[in-house]
Amino acid sequence: MAKKEGINCSFCGRPKNEVGILIAGVTGHICENCIEQAHQIVDEQFKFDTEKEVSTDFNLLKPAQIKTHLDEYIIGQDEAKRVLSVAVYNHYKRLSLVGKQDDDFEIDKSNVILVGRTGTGKTLLAKTIAKTLNVPFCIADATVLTEAGYVGEDVESILSRLLQAADFNVEAAEKGIVFIDEIDKIARKSDNPSITRDVSGEGVQQAMLKLLEGTEVNVPPQGGRKHPEQKMIKVNTKNILFIAGGAFDGVEKIIARRVNTNVIGFTTKDDDKPDGENLLQYIIPSDIKEFGLIPELIGRMPVLTYLHPLDEKALRRILTEPKNALIKQYVHLFDLDGVELKFDADVLDFIVDKAIEYKLGARGLRSICEAILNDAMFDIPSQKEVKEFRVDLEYASSKFAGSKMAKLKIA
Ligand code: ADP
Repeated sequence: MAKKEGINCSFCGRPKNEVGILIAGVTGHICENCIEQAHQIVDEQFKFDTEKEVSTDFNLLKPAQIKTHLDEYIIGQDEAKRVLSVAVYNHYKRLSLVGKQDDDFEIDKSNVILVGRTGTGKTLLAKTIAKTLNVPFCIADATVLTEAGYVGEDVESILSRLLQAADFNVEAAEKGIVFIDEIDKIARKSDNPSITRDVSGEGVQQAMLKLLEGTEVNVPPQGGRKHPEQKMIKVNTKNILFIAGGAFDGVEKIIARRVNTNVIGFTTKDDDKPDGENLLQYIIPSDIKEFGLIPELIGRMPVLTYLHPLDEKALRRILTEPKNALIKQYVHLFDLDGVELKFDADVLDFIVDKAIEYKLGARGLRSICEAILNDAMFDIPSQKEVKEFRVDLEYASSKFAGSKMAKLKIA
């Protein structure tokens, strides 16, 4: 009898005399309160898995079809588009074979590294691919990541974002795409001997290895604040496609040194001379290794490609050609107020010139348009009689000259 009085709930620890019912299991007991709570958690989890309407199917398009979709949104960057289309196609083909093929034949993952100056379309490429394939997508900034235990975000936090993008549908998240921005910023800082522990560089690269290759990770489902005690969600990264992007400032020097050596050593033909203007096109994995990414990381991101810097012509096309081009967006915004917006051709050239002058690249196009159109966007909705608004060069240059941006000129 004395023994019986000692029985507690194995979950909350309450003794038998403080609870109504204690149900015995093989090795423990559970009280009615804990049953109730467990029931709620199961319900909640079940809702996560069934209620959300995130599709776990993806559109398996052929590489040429993927590229055609990319062409609708991204100007130029043909080489990167082709390489990426093939990598993505192979990745998702591999995924569609899961369970249908012999287990002893595994196709390797094709994680990708995109090298190119900031604002040339790296993020846009990754985002557009995810949209085309209808898979969850998130952007993670490599610069905020640190090794576990240090101030900053653990690498696992990347997956919390992907889970959120997938509305907590684990199956969908496990087929998603993660874009890791500024991968070059976690390069090894080997030239700094005072750093004994390279917390934000090599350490993070090491921490990323497992994630990239494929592993089960316990992910804290941030945002699920209803249950602070909520358990971690298990996510397998085996079929997540990682696309990393970085400017790798200075890598051209490494490439130049290598190709020049090769040219002297092996080639005499003029046609084979490297194009000094755009050395990135010759990039190979050993260049980014020399830059400071560890070989193990490079090995797990086997597809490497580059993006061209955007010249005047490309910027001009970006303004008007993509499906959701900036100019088209403004025309649509005005149209919603019943106003036809028109730009003179030389205004578009002016916008491009300013983007180049201020060294802002494609990202600057929007700020310049805003500077020019802000007053019009403020006044016109209240002017019912205005049915058409034409932006000419005089209007554009005077509005721009009066904007804050014009005062921020970079020397
Ligand atoms: P990155 O990731 O290379 O730094 P982004 O992809 O974020 O650059 O590009 C910034 C913005 O510039 C995009 O949102 C897009 O509007 C525009 N942009 C950049 N490159 C292109 C391109 N090749 N075609 C169309 N738009 C582009």
